[in-house]
Amino acid sequence: MKVMLITGASRGIGAATAIAAANKGYTVCVNYRTDSTSASMVVEQIQQSGGKAVAIKADVSIEAEVAHLFSQIQATIGKVDVLVNNAGILQTGNIETIDSDRLRKVFELNVFGAFYCAKEAVKCMSARYGGAGGSIINVSSVAAKLGSAGEYIDYAASKGAIDTMTIGLATEVAEQGIRVNAVRPGVIYTDIHASGGEPGRVDRVRHSVPMKRGGEPVEIANAIVWLASDEASYCTGTIVDVSGGR
Ligand code: NAP
Repeated sequence: MKVMLITGASRGIGAATAIAAANKGYTVCVNYRTDSTSASMVVEQIQQSGGKAVAIKADVSIEAEVAHLFSQIQATIGKVDVLVNNAGILQTGNIETIDSDRLRKVFELNVFGAFYCAKEAVKCMSARYGGAGGSIINVSSVAAKLGSAGEYIDYAASKGAIDTMTIGLATEVAEQGIRVNAVRPGVIYTDIHASGGEPGRVDRVRHSVPMKRGGEPVEIANAIVWLASDEASYCTGTIVDVSGGR
């Protein structure tokens, strides 16, 4: 059974991805930062359907915690075959509200955390380290294309960095049997909007989406699980928009 680590899988897109991946036969690591109750509920749902999952707490914006997370995974369910860099945060407010504290939080998780996890994943997967190859999927955002004026240009810029990292890392590790791709979700019904300061955001902006609706987490999860699969075996450095046409 292949092992998939999904960062930030206690809720939202990460939780939906954990469930979709388990349904496809992956053994899943449900990473979370604080919400152990929600993480346990995801694990229980997977186990009740006959799947295998563990919940492991780690703040992936901290390099030492990421290294510890990967060693705990190897000790409990085996080496990581697929990494989904999903954990992310945003704060709402225009340029005048952005200070160093906000910038640090957004970039430390959305960018630094993705790099720390990718580095550990490459060590698990690379033929150079005796690995059998693997796949990394970064969860970006259409904000990277749109810029998110008046809302969160810092968050949009962090996702732009993730798009560039996807292309660069894909090229760097292609010969080592590792594929690196990204999914760019549009507006999706999850807690991230309330956590960032605007609970009703999806319903406010959904009229600007060509399909006139917000997305569901499972619609992103399905694209992630496809990119991880052999059906996407010739895709690397690819960025898939799942955004209702936005
Ligand atoms: P969410 O519902 O707010 O869930 C965030 C998840 O990340 C939770 O599981 C949370 O864990 C975890 N997390 C937060 N900080 C963490 C840290 N330092 N270390 C480890 N885990 C951490 O978010 P979401 O909307 O599903 O977003 C998932 C990804 O999709 C993010 O990268 C986001 O930028 C991207 N995205 C979302 C949308 C959207 O409209 N929802 C659109 C485009 C892109 P706890 O439960 O323990 O707090």
